[in-house]
Amino acid sequence: MSCLNRLEDLDDQALQSSVNSPQTPQLLTSASVGNDIKGNETDCDCACSNTPFAIAIINPQDTSFSALPDTYTIPLRQGYQLAFSPFAPAGPSVLNPAAWQRYQIFHQKPQPLKETIDHELAQQNLLVPTGHQPQIQPASPDQLTAWLHVTNACNLDCPYCYVRKSSAHMSLETGLNAIENLFAAAHRQNFSQLKLKYAGGEATLHFSLIQRLHERAMELAQKTGLALREVVLSNGVALTPAMVNWFEATQVRLMISLDGLGAVHDRQRPNKGGGTSFSQVMHTLEKLIQPRQIDLHLSVTVTGASAPYLSELVQWILSHDWPFSLNFYRQTPLSADHKELELEESAMIAGMQAAYRVIEQAIEQPTAPSLLSRSLVNGLLDKVQSQAHTHTCGVGQTYAVITHTGQIAQCQMQLNQPVSDDLDSYQLLPALAHGPIQNLSVQEKSECQTCTYRYRCTGGCPVETFRVTGRWDVKSPNCAIYKTLYPELLRLEGLRLLKFHGC
Ligand code: SF4
Ligand code: SF4
Repeated sequence: MSCLNRLEDLDDQALQSSVNSPQTPQLLTSASVGNDIKGNETDCDCACSNTPFAIAIINPQDTSFSALPDTYTIPLRQGYQLAFSPFAPAGPSVLNPAAWQRYQIFHQKPQPLKETIDHELAQQNLLVPTGHQPQIQPASPDQLTAWLHVTNACNLDCPYCYVRKSSAHMSLETGLNAIENLFAAAHRQNFSQLKLKYAGGEATLHFSLIQRLHERAMELAQKTGLALREVVLSNGVALTPAMVNWFEATQVRLMISLDGLGAVHDRQRPNKGGGTSFSQVMHTLEKLIQPRQIDLHLSVTVTGASAPYLSELVQWILSHDWPFSLNFYRQTPLSADHKELELEESAMIAGMQAAYRVIEQAIEQPTAPSLLSRSLVNGLLDKVQSQAHTHTCGVGQTYAVITHTGQIAQCQMQLNQPVSDDLDSYQLLPALAHGPIQNLSVQEKSECQTCTYRYRCTGGCPVETFRVTGRWDVKSPNCAIYKTLYPELLRLEGLRLLKFHGC
């Protein structure tokens, strides 16, 4: 069997792999395909993890290597196998039959690294020096992320919302002050980029404020040399053609929440009178956005109530070829009475599995959607990511929430529990580090220590774990869901790699 080369699509590393003959051991990795940072980064109404770590470089003096026992493997098709080491830098690897055969030799007996494929397997930490585990070395995060809470107002009345609604909104003075201090803090701490999330409530209800803050942020980015990334979080209900033109002109990312088709969306995202918002969101997506070049991302909140219908939504999104993420509902004090939203384990697993089957069918289509150019292990299972990391999110380290009054909170779920009233750039990060949320490293969560997926899941959202268990140092209450679904996502990623390489 051989891979059909898609030379026009492949970068150097992928090309190197694909031109080998079928008898040559061949390794396909997620790192070689779908590595575009902007296109590959998913968005949700949460803080992204940005505390990467490096894995110690193999010592060339080591003479004996073995297969890492703690590795997940699964056959794909036509003799191709997927292998995923907990210490893989990014995503799983796909081995062709010759590579798999070579890999098996290291299972039987420790060997020195002799062939090219041996070194490639070692780079993915599938082979490690005999008797040793790869060492984790903390690396400096490069991005400061800030949630700018533009307004408490909203035109919808979603049962899972964590915002206590009011007409209060951020003043221009507070917004400008926040942006200036965020740039100063990022610059002082040697971050190379700042990401601003304009959110609420419904941020587009104060669109001129967003525009003014964006202009100032652009000026400061130019002045400081910091890379700037921005996203507006919206329910998609009240966007006008003029607003959408602005998104096209600025290429500021637009994230729209879409939880289902028709009544499924309306039950989770009703307007204030309890009526439909779905038809307005559809109008925005299909009439205003689709004809334009917008950096759009759809964020799907999956609840116990919507999980059974998730596959229909995913099918619809894939037919429009839009990037999306699947995020799990988290209970808030405001949503506690809505028992139907709770994540019943078997319903969640069944709903997500049905959605993954739809994605698998899309991968196998002759004209697969642009989904093929992005890693599937990012954004399709709540906070689980493909890149190895130690903390579920940036809370306490690289994430700031600025309330509409200019106070600082650790997480948007704790808008009413600010940790400081002082926006001063010197105080910003220390205040965030000493707030009540203990965002521990996965290495401090005892139950996660032997989990193969520990550096992708990292134990789940700390606020949710503490809400359910009263502890910060234990595994997520959604652990069984993650453990069941992550291997399935790895398999999907393996199929994507095969398809991309024409195998
Ligand atoms: S919460 Fe569960 S799946 Fe996640 S790292 Fe911990 S043990 Fe693994
Ligand atoms: S603590 Fe939880 S809800 Fe808050 S940013 Fe982190 S993952 Fe998201």
